[in-house]
Amino acid sequence: MSIINEEEVRNKLSEIIDPISGENIIEQNMVSNLVIKGNNVSFSIEIDPVNKESMEKVRRQAESYVNSLTEVSSVTAVLTAHKSPTNNENSNSTEKDKLKSELLPDVKSIVAVASGKGGVGKSTTAVNLAVSLASTELKVGLLDADIYGPSMPRMLGIKDKPKPLPDKRISPIEVFGIKVMSIGLLIDEETPMIWRGPMVMGALEQMMRDVDWGRLDILIVDMPPGTGDAQLTMAQRVPLSGAVIVSTPQDIALLDARKGLNMFLKVNVPVLGIIENMSMFICPNCNHQTNIFGHGGARAEAEKLNCDFLGEVPLDLDIRVTSDLGRPIVIDQPTGDHAKTYKAMAKIVASKLKSESKTNIPKIIFDC
Ligand code: ADP
Repeated sequence: MSIINEEEVRNKLSEIIDPISGENIIEQNMVSNLVIKGNNVSFSIEIDPVNKESMEKVRRQAESYVNSLTEVSSVTAVLTAHKSPTNNENSNSTEKDKLKSELLPDVKSIVAVASGKGGVGKSTTAVNLAVSLASTELKVGLLDADIYGPSMPRMLGIKDKPKPLPDKRISPIEVFGIKVMSIGLLIDEETPMIWRGPMVMGALEQMMRDVDWGRLDILIVDMPPGTGDAQLTMAQRVPLSGAVIVSTPQDIALLDARKGLNMFLKVNVPVLGIIENMSMFICPNCNHQTNIFGHGGARAEAEKLNCDFLGEVPLDLDIRVTSDLGRPIVIDQPTGDHAKTYKAMAKIVASKLKSESKTNIPKIIFDC
């Protein structure tokens, strides 16, 4: 049982005046998603996005007021875009449905695997999740949308080029039970490519619309790293059912992960959870565990952000080597510990997609 009293928190917050209406923020019904977990408090403040700058002061004030309560050890307040809830959400999902039926009519769910920055193991995670999902009864595709650094041909050891079909579409490559398409399969690795904004989306739309994906239960999309404009456009223009965020335990990477999370929440894509990669190093000789990048940061952060933690994958030489050899660890060592971890995380993702409509995913915008 929590020792912090919700009423006490609300009373404290009622001391804060909304500069726009001149009323206190509780009376104005601006506080929502109030969650008390142990000594940690989190809540959203609903605002009109045009007042974002001035409301930042209110957000900070709210955090410090609640923090002044003796039992409270941490407070996270976030600004949420206030909207006429039903209309906005309906129009958003209608648009998404339209986009989906236009681009990928026979794909049930599309899941982005994303990271706030490069090199955290996003592609390794995407590929191992995809083959794990395919090891159940599911029909799975993998779209390498990392236009700037497509790695799927290497990670899956693909040497063939996709074949053109009579209807001018192309067929994806089938490998390890999944269907794969990557820009790396279409252009020569040596060819330098400079991608301008509209070209990125154009290429991606082609890889969705003009590829004969057939019927798929899940299409995993390996996103380009980062949270810039190109990524935001993608998050908006690819009809995503949900997103998985990959992060290393380092603080900086976590800050980036938080940005990644925000990006999806901003465009109303549910975040299915966070995966901590390179979580710890286990010495292959003596089994000693070393926490090279710290450990557990992503789990703690996920809890703070009210987002599910899907699991942790250690930094392991076999994962790197198998990946470079074009045989994902889940395929190479299907009964090993890493395969078990990936399969367990894939299972959570699949079950979340099934119950997505019932899942209570917070629509919050973090200011970071
Ligand atoms: P990103 O897609 O985030 O840029 P990659 O998946 O390409 O990252 O991984 C970057 C490098 O790190 C690759 O060489 C990959 O084999 C390696 N790697 C990824 N995850 C792990 C891990 N858990 N243990 C060891 N090496 C890893």
